[in-house]
Amino acid sequence: MLNKKIVFLAHHKNKKIMKKIVFLLLTLVIFSCSSKKSVSQNVKDTTVVKKAPKVYTMKVEDIKLLDNKSIYYYKSTITAADLKKHLTKLTSTEFEGRKTGENGQKIAANYIADYYKSLEIEAPIGEDQYFQYIPKEFFNGKSNNSSENVLAFIYGIEKPEEVVVISAHYDHLGLKEDNLFHGADDNGSGTSALLEIAEAFRMAYNDDEGPKRSILFLNLTGEEEGLFGSKYYAEHPVFPFEKTIVDLNIDMVGRVDDAHKDDENYVYLIGADKISEELHFISEAVNKKYTQLNLDYKYNDDNDINRFYYRSDHYNFAKNNVPVIFYFNGTHADYHKPTDTEDKINYDLLAKRAQLVFLTAWELANRDEVLKKD
Ligand SMILES: [Zn+2]
Repeated sequence: MLNKKIVFLAHHKNKKIMKKIVFLLLTLVIFSCSSKKSVSQNVKDTTVVKKAPKVYTMKVEDIKLLDNKSIYYYKSTITAADLKKHLTKLTSTEFEGRKTGENGQKIAANYIADYYKSLEIEAPIGEDQYFQYIPKEFFNGKSNNSSENVLAFIYGIEKPEEVVVISAHYDHLGLKEDNLFHGADDNGSGTSALLEIAEAFRMAYNDDEGPKRSILFLNLTGEEEGLFGSKYYAEHPVFPFEKTIVDLNIDMVGRVDDAHKDDENYVYLIGADKISEELHFISEAVNKKYTQLNLDYKYNDDNDINRFYYRSDHYNFAKNNVPVIFYFNGTHADYHKPTDTEDKINYDLLAKRAQLVFLTAWELANRDEVLKKD
């Protein structure tokens, strides 16, 4: 998860836009007494106007889910114990906090690629080429070296050109002075979840259980420095965006925030209804049938000041009109601190959230009809 301050700077680094905003705000103040019409127009231009909540044309009962009993087995292969194994490794001192371009990030990239290879999940770029290389220059001085996204791929049996993307960034903040930033929740949790989801899909594939559409497992670098890995992928997509039907992005799913101390069975969903209303309801229906988590949409509100919709990698897909869901546990006292450690992860909850992502991806990859955009 990207720090808010960086996002703010990124959004305002263009001086022209900044000047325009200042100008519009001034105009707003000057004209606010004299003309109601000009006020509303200026308010619109500066986007401070509050958006009304979305009015839906469907309901969850309209969604008819696939009826395949074997899904319960594949879901059950995503276990707390396996997630802990990955996460313990990713957050160990050997991985040095996985800072983009540094040694620890390279070790993490190799760990992820080796895992895909051990499962015989293919590399989509070329044989055994799991890395999408990103030149140092792309990081605008925020990485000392080139870096890499790690991509693995299961070929769809019936509609291979249509692609479901499941993404998670694997980089973190590295070492600062003597402090190691383990990044257990951010985003060891999402990375471990992605590896387990990939394994579940591969087991199904081995049993001739789909997937109908292709699935891309996208492990992204450079997120903490400013969503660079997903930005690079968006500029160099391995599969065209017109046929990329969804991005399910997992960033921080192993913890419980203060707001849910008394109700740990939850996850925040962000973005699901912004491009495809159908996606929102498929996601709801899947959860209702299989996982029964409380889906919290607090941060999906366009007026929410945290602007989480813009703060993780899914946004670079949404920008290209690809429907997205961002899975997130909210922030906590250890966010972006050396104390974001493995022992504080709630593994049963992490497993349940990972299962929700898997089941949603399964549904989207195997339905007869491709996901509709609004
Ligand atoms: Zn972060």
